Amino acid sequence: METTTKVDLGNFRTETRAWLEKNCPISMRQPVKSTSDMYWGGRNAKFSSEDQKIWFEKMLEKKWIVPYWEGKYGGGDLTPEENNILTQEMAKLGCRKPLFSFGIAMLGPALLKFATEEQKLRYLPEIVKGKIWWCQGYSEPNAGSDLAGLQMKAQDREDHYLINGSKVWTTYADKADWIFCLVRTNTDVAKHSGISFLLIDMATPGVSVRPIKLISGKSPFCETFFDNVKVPKSNLIGTLNEGWTIAKYLLSHERQMIGGVGQTDIKRDISEIAKEKTKMISGQLEDSLLRTQVSKFEMDESIFELTIQRILDEDKTGKKAAALSSFFKYYGTELNVKREELLIQIGGDESLLWVPNDRNDADAARKFCRSKGNTIEGGTSEIQLNIIAKRLLNLPN
Ligand SMILES: Cc1cc2nc3c(=O)[nH]c(=O)nc-3n(C[C@H](O)[C@H](O)[C@H](O)COP(=O)(O)OP(=O)(O)OC[C@H]3O[C@@H](n4cnc5c(N)ncnc54)[C@H](O)[C@@H]3O)c2cc1C
Repeated sequence: METTTKVDLGNFRTETRAWLEKNCPISMRQPVKSTSDMYWGGRNAKFSSEDQKIWFEKMLEKKWIVPYWEGKYGGGDLTPEENNILTQEMAKLGCRKPLFSFGIAMLGPALLKFATEEQKLRYLPEIVKGKIWWCQGYSEPNAGSDLAGLQMKAQDREDHYLINGSKVWTTYADKADWIFCLVRTNTDVAKHSGISFLLIDMATPGVSVRPIKLISGKSPFCETFFDNVKVPKSNLIGTLNEGWTIAKYLLSHERQMIGGVGQTDIKRDISEIAKEKTKMISGQLEDSLLRTQVSKFEMDESIFELTIQRILDEDKTGKKAAALSSFFKYYGTELNVKREELLIQIGGDESLLWVPNDRNDADAARKFCRSKGNTIEGGTSEIQLNIIAKRLLNLPN
């Protein structure tokens, strides 16, 4: 890919801003408040508004659903610098992502690195067009933090694999069309060595799903059961029994996403909300303790944003430290918990309202509960700290 010069980048920014101003409907520039604000695509895709449809179709036509993938896979061929500018300009306007998909931030990078060309050409353009809603089948009842202990079996039956076992905490398994799964293909070797990475159509006979209720009241979680499910051998990604490498690579992308790297939606400043909702004296918050907490939080938030930017810039020069995704995941999600805790404090009694799922005007308690989930999904905070200690800081065991 050709490098874009500084002058070109200036033009690109101006053109991008103008294009977004013209094509992103005003209602698509509001923060996402509920799941219906998010378009996930899939076989049974439904847009929740005309503006959501327009925004998705405009971005698809512009090839900006996944702007940084190659054109042959449905991407927009943008360089990292151009993509960065697009992300920044979308963030400035508050543009929502046109498509929410585990295919983009999680499966896609793994396919690009490990799949055959035939598999890439089959699955990547479908991800871009939002044709398939993907879910993730990693965790099992006895394999969460110790993921390599997973037991769901894939037995070789000559022309197919026969799958038996179950997955748990599978987000949106009840809505998804396909699942990317870790399966055990060899039980006679060390646990990390006998794992493979398989794609499974959820419509295959023998796949069933049971929803799980969460503390937040909403239920994206499911248990997913596989009972003598036949999966074509062509659905194996990478080499048989070497799926652990793919699993880790995918997790590093998932952790960056959960940590908030590359997000375009804008969160309102906590200080603005505090000014609106609490008493002021001489132009500042009356509660001196809250004043200190808000200032400290906003400093931490700015430092994190600057650190992400610095690391991404260093990344362009090829200076990539191991385990950075764990740092992003740990700091980003713990910061988000602090944000939601502060919002509860600022809102007082009002924050404790537990309203029905379809009301978005009082959702502080629900968001607070959900933020705790961020520190668990994709690997808990404790596990990220272990990785940071070992692989970033080289501390002894
Ligand atoms: C919102 C959400 C969405 C999720 N979505 C999915 C999904 O779509 N697909 C999927 O496959 N999974 C999903 N998960 C599951 C998630 O990956 C697991 O919950 C996570 O890996 C932790 O595993 P566990 O729940 O079994 O906890 P455990 O592994 O049993 O851990 C319990 C506690 O022990 C601590 N602990 C465990 N081992 C260590 C250690 N070595 N050192 C220090 N502390 C340790 C943990 O930090 C944790 O506090 C989701 C989880 C959440 C919360």
